[in-house]
Amino acid sequence: MAKRLINPVAKGALLALLCLWAASCATNPVSGRPELMLVSEADEAQIGRKTDADVVKEYGIYDDPQLTAYLNGFCQEIARVSHRPNLPYQLKIVDSPVVNAFAVPGGYIYFTRGILAYLNNEAELVGVMGHELGHVAARHSAEQISRAQLANVGLGLGMILVPELRYVSDLAQFGVGLLFLKFSRDDERQADDLGVEYASKLGYDATQMADFFESLARMEPGSSRSGLPEWFSTHPNPVDREKAVDRKAEEWRQDLGLRNPKVSRDSYLRRIDGLVFGDDPRGGYEEGGVFYHPSLRFQFPVPSGWKLNNTHTQVQIVSAAKDGAIIFTLAAKGSPAEAARAFVQQNRASVVEQSNTRVNGLPAFRMLSQVRSQQGVLAILSYFIQRDGAVYVFHGFTPANRYRTYASAFSATMEGFSEIRDAAKLRVEPKRIRIKTASATGTVRQSLRDFGVKEENLEKLAILNGMGLDDRIQAGSLIKVVEPGK
Ligand SMILES: [Zn+2]
Repeated sequence: MAKRLINPVAKGALLALLCLWAASCATNPVSGRPELMLVSEADEAQIGRKTDADVVKEYGIYDDPQLTAYLNGFCQEIARVSHRPNLPYQLKIVDSPVVNAFAVPGGYIYFTRGILAYLNNEAELVGVMGHELGHVAARHSAEQISRAQLANVGLGLGMILVPELRYVSDLAQFGVGLLFLKFSRDDERQADDLGVEYASKLGYDATQMADFFESLARMEPGSSRSGLPEWFSTHPNPVDREKAVDRKAEEWRQDLGLRNPKVSRDSYLRRIDGLVFGDDPRGGYEEGGVFYHPSLRFQFPVPSGWKLNNTHTQVQIVSAAKDGAIIFTLAAKGSPAEAARAFVQQNRASVVEQSNTRVNGLPAFRMLSQVRSQQGVLAILSYFIQRDGAVYVFHGFTPANRYRTYASAFSATMEGFSEIRDAAKLRVEPKRIRIKTASATGTVRQSLRDFGVKEENLEKLAILNGMGLDDRIQAGSLIKVVEPGK
């Protein structure tokens, strides 16, 4: 309510005044009004480059040059009709099953393979991409950073594993805190409006974006553990969002005299035929109390009852009581002993005991140390294991007074590190999206059954297709199914 006390003109004048003495001030590319901005365009580019490097490192890029080029084509087209056409826009596919799309300052746009699996036509794609470019055009991230700086809030939030072990997140050095900042509902509304505007200007049916928001709402949230936030956790849902999008779309349709706006379903679906769906076991999976990493060909046991979280750069395993954790990762460089020394230096650890050892024939360095954290003294058992020119690292953390409870679990996991011996464990393949052609006119339910979809998966598959099970489809229509990898 308080906001209403200052009318927009007065607010503009006030900002212009503030800008006379503020560190920097800019004209918003979308509103054309001056705004207080502590982040310059050069800062944006720099923040973008840094965040991009972190995103690539933390989450990994999905390796499909053709699909990436296809998406980049849309990105450039949208940029052309956007309010900031001159930024060097670049689109990347993040190798994550999480359903999300996001933009960081400087023109970096990301779509996860998860969201690509759930999109159903080019009109939806362009709408969502337009929404993300809208955030960039209206400098929402830059605004957020300015607000964060004003509030003196650090951006290195990272991912906090468990509150008792907050220290772990410092060790993990996550640099992607920016992705965890939420936009305000007003920013979301504006990004929606801009998405509709850009999609309409490119001749697409912008109401499709609203349909996609409905599909998102039908999904089960929080199903992934990769650490990347989902769309819903970073995009507050404005009230009546779908209605607002439909209304704006109709306005643009009339303004532009759009007769038959494009949806382009088949051309989109054919592009995502073969897309990896869900977790990719080639990057590690847990089975029968053992963690297997087929790409790197190693395995180690997981303590019974502990929860494992496999991210692109590390594996985190947390005890049921959440007072013990094991982090598994790769050391930067050097020998096992050098990696141990670097750890001691970085964390001002005091070494309790250390020795050279071997783990299943591999040269290794074992160290027990203590680190003073805000939560008290932590005991840390570490193994640095040399293999194929790399040093694999385990850190087992627990409050020092509980070390005896967890020492044997730590040791069993770390000393169980070995080559994968069972060839069957190496031959895993991810599930993939396959595009099928409906052979008869009928319900979505019937069509999915024809393709061998199990009863318990029918609803999920209908959501994936952006349809209801009782919706009717024509013979010859394309439909998505998920098939096990071969
Ligand atoms: Zn948004």
